[in-house]
Amino acid sequence: MDVIDLEQRRREAEGPAPEYATCPCGEAWFELLATPDKPGAVCMNPDGSITGYAGTPHCIGCGERYVAR
Ligand SMILES: [Zn+2]
Repeated sequence: MDVIDLEQRRREAEGPAPEYATCPCGEAWFELLATPDKPGAVCMNPDGSITGYAGTPHCIGCGERYVAR
């Protein structure tokens, strides 16, 4: 009888963690929502890459607030 290590299989299926932020649900896109004192806004380099933000990032997939790890 073969013994299947489910934890090992799950780790292999997930692969290496991406270098960008992801939600626990797997989504990589976030919506910036305003806080009472700040709008949802970004700060950018001239090429449009984002260097900072105000507001709180929420997953567009499940709506959960992103928590930095
Ligand atoms: Zn999510």
